[in-house]
Amino acid sequence: MFHALRFRLTLWYALVLAAVLAVFGVSLYGLVRYQLVRHHDAALTEAAAAVARVLSEQEDCEHLTDSQRAELDGIGHLVLFHEVEGEGRVFYRSPDSAAVEIPLDSRAATAPAGAGSFDTLSGKPELLRMYSVPYRSRAGRRGLIHVVHGLGDVPAPLASLRLALLLMAPLAVLLSAAGGYWLAGRALAPVDDVTRLAREIGASSLGRRLPPPKAQDEIGRLVDTLNQMIARLESSFEAMKRFTADASHELRGPLATMRSAIDVALSRPREHSEYRDALASVGEDVDRLRDIAEELLVLARADAGRIAIERHPVRLDVVTTEVVESFEALAAERGVSLCARCVEAVTVAGDERWLRQLVFNLLDNAVKFSAPAKAGERPSVSIEVAEDDGAGLLRVADTGPGIPEQALLRIFERFYRADDARSYQGEGVGLGLSIAAWVVEAHGGRIWAANRPDGGSLFTVSLPVARL
Ligand code: ADP
Repeated sequence: MFHALRFRLTLWYALVLAAVLAVFGVSLYGLVRYQLVRHHDAALTEAAAAVARVLSEQEDCEHLTDSQRAELDGIGHLVLFHEVEGEGRVFYRSPDSAAVEIPLDSRAATAPAGAGSFDTLSGKPELLRMYSVPYRSRAGRRGLIHVVHGLGDVPAPLASLRLALLLMAPLAVLLSAAGGYWLAGRALAPVDDVTRLAREIGASSLGRRLPPPKAQDEIGRLVDTLNQMIARLESSFEAMKRFTADASHELRGPLATMRSAIDVALSRPREHSEYRDALASVGEDVDRLRDIAEELLVLARADAGRIAIERHPVRLDVVTTEVVESFEALAAERGVSLCARCVEAVTVAGDERWLRQLVFNLLDNAVKFSAPAKAGERPSVSIEVAEDDGAGLLRVADTGPGIPEQALLRIFERFYRADDARSYQGEGVGLGLSIAAWVVEAHGGRIWAANRPDGGSLFTVSLPVARL
């Protein structure tokens, strides 16, 4: 429970509220106390001025006349006037000041004459507010006038305020925390629902979705995002299932052929040449299995992000020409003419090893699938490299059967083979274009296939050129 978001939200809320109330209470208390204490300040300054006026009638303020004493007695506040220098004699003290213990502070005496200062003293028996002002007599004698007012009426309201604050603040925090806990529970209830429903969705029920939210608030957006995530999971799970099924199917083919070749060879004693033929046929299947395993490994490593694509300036035209040259023997053997006439110098940013693989896979298909477009014509593959609008373009066209319209996008999927290509099953597995598409994507480029108007297919690759 203590780890629940609801509890932590309430705790934070209560803590913040308590801190705010504490600051508010302390400030309020301080303000009220300040106002109560300085309530008499104006009267104290006036009284001090009256004392000074009386004293100014004297040459040296030492021997006050009776009328002057009577005037000072009538001021109504406790008044004390004493000498600062010498023995610090007290010249005058109002009659009722004896009952009050006034802690005298001579620091005020250092202030220039007339510049008074206020103090709040915890005198006995009550709090005192004192105004002290230095005085210099006509004869040059320095003294200090203190006018004091008892603040007996201040502590009582302050105590009530303190009590009210101390009682009310915790109560307010407690009530708000309870309210906050309830509100947090209400606000978070949909999250609990979503969690429960999401928990029920497993690998076998990825087709299920969370119920669409009523409002497009935070929870609504969370549900939408989770649904989109489940949809992505579902499609990659499906792709993975398809991939595994296709992969095992592709592996079973050559294995079954190998098995039957071996069974036939062993069914009865044979000539050496027959064993050699059987082994050669098994060897072909082993090659095919090795090719499949290598291509699968490339795709698996690419999926896991374990193939680092380095970006260096690479001459696409040079790489293409080299790959074309490596295909010349095979093309000649199959009677296909390779034509790489429009090859401009283009430098793209990429990884030469993988760009070579890309060109290889496209040419491999083109040579494999090319057939005479028209009777009597020689099958041909034409290759073009050009730069257009900041992109390096590679075009590989052939005179083969082309690609059925509905398969144009799907041929880049793993293990996908268009029907027309079934007759070539012995040669490909349907991974070459997936690898080509991955290489292009890893380079930040694009690849697409189209059918040429006069027959055959055209593959175009666009790669970002290197900024030199
Ligand atoms: P593979 O060539 O091993 O079958 P790919 O991934 O290279 O696999 O190609 C997938 C499919 O795309 C091929 O089986 C074929 O149907 C189609 N395809 C690829 N290149 C061509 C092409 N040049 N002409 C016609 N169809 C092609």
